[in-house]
Amino acid sequence: MICLGIEGTAHTFGMGIVDSAGRVLANPTKTYFPEKGGIHPREAAQFHAANAKLVLEEALRAARIEIEDIDLVAFSQGPGLGPVLRTTATAARALAVWLGVPIVGVNHCIAHIEIGRLTEAAKDPVTLYVSGGNTQVIAFDAGRYRVFGETIDIPVGNCLDVFAREVGRPHPGGPIVEKLAKAGKNYLPLPYVVKGMDLSFSGLLTEAIRKHREGANINDLCYSLQETAFAALVEVTERALAHTEKKELLLTGGVAANGRLREMLKLMAREQRAKFYVPPRELCGDQGAMIAWNGILAYKSGFRQSIKDTKVKQRWRTDEVEVTWRRS
Ligand code: AMP
Ligand code: MG
Repeated sequence: MICLGIEGTAHTFGMGIVDSAGRVLANPTKTYFPEKGGIHPREAAQFHAANAKLVLEEALRAARIEIEDIDLVAFSQGPGLGPVLRTTATAARALAVWLGVPIVGVNHCIAHIEIGRLTEAAKDPVTLYVSGGNTQVIAFDAGRYRVFGETIDIPVGNCLDVFAREVGRPHPGGPIVEKLAKAGKNYLPLPYVVKGMDLSFSGLLTEAIRKHREGANINDLCYSLQETAFAALVEVTERALAHTEKKELLLTGGVAANGRLREMLKLMAREQRAKFYVPPRELCGDQGAMIAWNGILAYKSGFRQSIKDTKVKQRWRTDEVEVTWRRS
């Protein structure tokens, strides 16, 4: 079985082609960058619509298949930005109906975990999913992916992006903050906020920007921002590992590219006697292969959807998904 997976929840539009043996045959993406400021949902949706045909052609070419070879269409049904999700769903419905093949709506956050389980052979990990739009600590328990901890305000990637923007650096901020942090020497106290198992990054962001305006050294600030934000992520992830007694830790999402975060998590995992996994960078960010693979898992487990069930779910929570393809 060959599945075309369409990703479109935020900046990135992607189409992945994956077969039922879990081989990724193609995975092209196109990313929208706003000229200034943050993401504009309608503009992003227009960018995705304008690029959909191009990305599809590129995917088919890379996979060396004809469009008629596609047996299943999967798409990111949520969570994400409304206009972007609707564009993605429209493309998926059109293709599925035209090809006469089944359609499967996939939860974006869970797709990140499933592609990690496929490529890293982690069987039952605690997952730290950190990106521009999400920050969650997730683990499977009793038929569902449960959220053990999450941000109560902004995602950690967004915190880094907005900080960079406010101090006059280009998007995306994560890699820039990482680079500047390497030259940082002094830790400047910043608000460290963990509430129970949940996280908050907006106070940290505000204070970092304030310190910048007061003339604090930018390298020291980036260093302190990373150390504070990542320590909070590690604390919550460690507690989830200890509580669930799972022995695998999976890091994914765009922020997984960060070397310092990897280092801190690796150390913590060793102390918890857990194995640490990070998928290859191109499978950590948003892309269609993860949607295709999750689509195959769901379809093979008997999940079926009619077109009228494909309405987008902007706030679709990870723990609302009935995970029909996993028993334990
Ligand atoms: P995603 O939302 O999964 O597409 O990932 C994009 C997010 O990852 C943005 O917030 C980026 O700033 C962030 N990111 C990318 N590279 C790095 C890095 N090296 N360190 C920290 N964050 C990063
Ligand atoms: Mg994502």
